Amino acid sequence: MKNDHSPWVRSQELLKKTAKIIGLDKFLLETLLHHQKDLKVSLPLRLDNGQIKVFFGFRLQHNNLLGPYKGGLRYHPKVSEDEIKALSFWMTMKNAVIDVPFGGSKGGIVVNPKELSLKELETLTRSFVKAIVDLIGPDKDIPAPDVNTNPKIMGWIADEYYKITKDHSNAVVTGKPLEIGGLQGRTEATGLGGVFVLKTFLHLNSLFKSKMTVAIQGFGNVGRWAAEFLLKEGFKIVALSDSGGGIYLPSGFKDIEKVQAFKVKNKTLSGFGGQKIEHDKVLELPVDIIVPAALENAINHKNASKIQAKIILELANGPTTNEAEELLQKREKIIIPDILANSGGVAASYFEWFQNKNGQGWTKKEVFSKLKEKMEKAVSAVVANSKKYKTNLRDASYLLALERLQKVYKQKSTSN
Ligand code: NAD
Repeated sequence: MKNDHSPWVRSQELLKKTAKIIGLDKFLLETLLHHQKDLKVSLPLRLDNGQIKVFFGFRLQHNNLLGPYKGGLRYHPKVSEDEIKALSFWMTMKNAVIDVPFGGSKGGIVVNPKELSLKELETLTRSFVKAIVDLIGPDKDIPAPDVNTNPKIMGWIADEYYKITKDHSNAVVTGKPLEIGGLQGRTEATGLGGVFVLKTFLHLNSLFKSKMTVAIQGFGNVGRWAAEFLLKEGFKIVALSDSGGGIYLPSGFKDIEKVQAFKVKNKTLSGFGGQKIEHDKVLELPVDIIVPAALENAINHKNASKIQAKIILELANGPTTNEAEELLQKREKIIIPDILANSGGVAASYFEWFQNKNGQGWTKKEVFSKLKEKMEKAVSAVVANSKKYKTNLRDASYLLALERLQKVYKQKSTSN
């Protein structure tokens, strides 16, 4: 039976394939096929009931050719070294695509945060900062929110880092609360950035129609804001899901704010209204666009043949396996790849870091307008590359990233 390769293995395959197309420098290729630093730490925690439990955390720094390492922090029971390896590599590629002066890293703790009290979660986060403090810093490596992490957790990281280093700039982490140097609109930025990407792509290809139907998998930091802005931009959201289940409303959700309020109160979307469906079935509905905004491998060799939507907007990192992609390309589906589609998050993180370092404070309107400009530029560059190399959008994004990395590499390296 056919298997879906692990996210890191499949990324290496695609890296090698695209490196060949542009004749990437061999030294640079070997560098990108490996991580520069890989730290695993143990984090013993005294639980509220007095018991001691040991958690494990990772911080992986893939590459810093373009600037300080940058990448989110994930809290999830399925966090693994292989997953963080892929995620940190994708950060290097994404930062090159969106053209911000950052390298790529990622971190995570193997934990289900829903099983910890707030106090336990804070202690665990602070002990993680103590364990990785030598690796991070405003000019070294800058964490940000990812799955199951949020501004509150970023605030603890900034505070613990300050306690240890006395660096008060807060630029060690992005996605912070506004009161301690956070960016207006950072929370919305990944979802909104994805909407800018989608709209620009549809217009460039004369595919935009009013009321295009959309199904979204994942209703967290990213999926919730994608739903909100897609609705505002004239799309029709007919299905949503989270880990607790899916809801399908063919007439379309009218108020995403209400869905969010229901989710906050009930901890799940299930029961909000519409028809109940299994959480992963939202991807198989008869809609124009599907938006995977949850975890890796959501679209794999098992469900790829059942996908009906013409367009897949990858707001999650790595939601499509290579095997699924092959099948979907044969079926002439359009995949707008993660390293382009969800790069609004790191673009906004760059704005936040820049603000912190330069003592500035932009309004939400200014942030959204800068974000729009960045996303439109990136989409145009990827679409131009897909025409130049006659390739799909994922390969075109990789080629763009590698071209940019190679240009910088050539300026920095003595042998070239
Ligand atoms: P989150 O924890 O806020 O939300 C994840 C959502 O996915 C939750 O609603 C969860 O219930 C749901 N989910 C999990 N498994 C599911 C399943 N099988 N079916 C349906 N729903 C499921 O995380 P997030 O920050 O929104 O991140 C989502 C994805 O976007 C991840 O791949 C992340 O790496 C990527 N991403 C996030 C950011 C960011 O700024 N937060 C930036 C770029 C990329």
